Amino acid sequence: MLVDSHCHLNFPDLAADLAGVIARMQAAEVTHALCVCVNLRDFPQVLALAERYPNIYASVGVHPDEPPGNDPELNDLVELARHPRVIAIGETGLDYYRQTGDTAWQRARFRTHIRAARTCGKPLIVHTRAAADDTLAIMREENAGAIGGVMHCFTESLTVAQQAMEQNFYISISGIVTFKNATALKQVTEALPLERLLIETDAPYLAPIPFRGKPNEPAYVRYVAEEVARIKKQPFATIAEQTTANFFRLFQPQD
Ligand SMILES: [Zn+2]
Ligand SMILES: [Zn+2]
Repeated sequence: MLVDSHCHLNFPDLAADLAGVIARMQAAEVTHALCVCVNLRDFPQVLALAERYPNIYASVGVHPDEPPGNDPELNDLVELARHPRVIAIGETGLDYYRQTGDTAWQRARFRTHIRAARTCGKPLIVHTRAAADDTLAIMREENAGAIGGVMHCFTESLTVAQQAMEQNFYISISGIVTFKNATALKQVTEALPLERLLIETDAPYLAPIPFRGKPNEPAYVRYVAEEVARIKKQPFATIAEQTTANFFRLFQPQD
């Protein structure tokens, strides 16, 4: 039993063959997936998936790469997050790789999401790229640790992981860990405590080896689990059980 803790099933590549995607999940023993929202325009589609499929959950949030001007109000997020199929706030965070220049709007948007998560009592999905120090600083200032969450698609150092874990966050490993040149991430993965580990695809992006460069899908989270098992010298079943238990402990879906 495996869970894909982060994917985008509403994106065209996956939505076009949803029945196939769901069937291949089942065949790969991927029992659940969290479909992550990136902007409020698409939220109705994300929620519709979670309402249609009992094993698909939804989040609500606006990605840091959504241009300025698409900033949700605190109350918008809190209201939308009341729905029982919505189990997280995000994805949110900071991305100084794709967005350069004045990024004050990103930091303000991130703070709004943390406040929303604390208000509605649902954990955060944090995206951070080329912005680890600011991400951790804002998490501390806004007391994100009071609600916790996950650092998704983690590619930062062990020190960053430790500072996030000190704030009650889990660390999610994506298919990047299967890439031959991902030496640093493999070392970080080896050092991470099993109790804080999640796995994800971030589908349709970042397909693991042997599908690198092709569209990704939740079934492939199995390849992430296999690589994590290899790196941590643990049985596959242990990684599957522990990451699944971690997912349900963090997000606590109500139905
Ligand atoms: Zn992301
Ligand atoms: Zn994502």
